[in-house]
Amino acid sequence: MSKIKILDESTIQQIAAGEVIERPSSIVKELIENSIDAGSDNIIIEIQDGGKSYIRVTDNGEGMNKEDIELAFKRHSTSKLQTVEDIYNVLSLGFRGEALASISSVSDVEVLSKTKNSDIGIQAFVKNGHVVESNSIGCPKGTTIIVRNIFYNLPVRQKFLKSSNIESNHISEIINKLALGNSKVSFKFIKDGNIILKTPQNNTLLNTIYSVLGKDYHKNLIPINYLVNDLKISGFISNNNLYRANRNHQYLYINGRYISNLNLSKIIEKQYKSLIPLNRLPVFILNIELSPNEVDINIHPTKQEVKFVNSEYIYNNITNIIREKLMPSVVVPEMKPFN
Ligand code: ADP
Ligand code: MG
Repeated sequence: MSKIKILDESTIQQIAAGEVIERPSSIVKELIENSIDAGSDNIIIEIQDGGKSYIRVTDNGEGMNKEDIELAFKRHSTSKLQTVEDIYNVLSLGFRGEALASISSVSDVEVLSKTKNSDIGIQAFVKNGHVVESNSIGCPKGTTIIVRNIFYNLPVRQKFLKSSNIESNHISEIINKLALGNSKVSFKFIKDGNIILKTPQNNTLLNTIYSVLGKDYHKNLIPINYLVNDLKISGFISNNNLYRANRNHQYLYINGRYISNLNLSKIIEKQYKSLIPLNRLPVFILNIELSPNEVDINIHPTKQEVKFVNSEYIYNNITNIIREKLMPSVVVPEMKPFN
């Protein structure tokens, strides 16, 4: 008899889920990214108790039919990849086909969805990757996913969840990151019945910054619009009147995907050395666009780390553009904010 055992399917699934679903905000992130990948330009996020008891994400994207819903919650099921090579060309936010399976293995899930070609929508209840009940239902085109009772089957993980306030803040942060990276999409965030954030459709980045970060930011930003060969860098950096004690308001995106990259942050910060007080850090919202095969996003399941094929090239270009913009520091002319 061997001491080694093969884990059963549900244990394997729960361990895998732990990689992706750390807390309610991880679920919100995955659901919003799916909505964006589905081509939605209007996403409504509603939570209760910091998302611990209830999360609902509604979109007006391409929707799913009955067969799609059956498959979507299986492990490694995705419409976004065909072969492994596609990983190096992926422009969608998701591609692993793990999120919905993971979410359904640690919580109760209800789906409402309708595609543009069907007359009637589907309501389905999903547990552990399996549709346990499904009905035809009238609903608009798009998808709503409701997640209840997170970690109901993992009491220890449930105990590690923080207060509703702290969990809500994590969710807010995720929504802010996604909203700033997708200013064409309208986001509405409702927390315990109160609207916390609303951004209009077909927005400009500057207006989204106004909604998300406030008017102090709005007034102290320098626009960046830079294109060399196949590298495009766009967004805003703070002038010398706007700085913070931490990196919380440094937003970096690669091809629209939020990333954290300390090297890149430090390179940008270096350019502000003599311009802002010691121990203060600049604010920036920058999207770097380059050919997807110039960047490896496949490093971690939560996909915030990336590796550049040619990082020197990107770092040098960033250094040049920021240096050029900061001296002399230019203040953007004030723009009329939306109502
Ligand atoms: P991934 O996003 O990596 O493909 P997911 O588990 O998040 O994996 O989703 C599985 C599949 O379910 C997606 O590839 C997509 O086809 C479908 N899907 C998920 N959410 C939505 C949505 N909001 N609208 C339309 N299709 C969706
Ligand atoms: Mg996904």
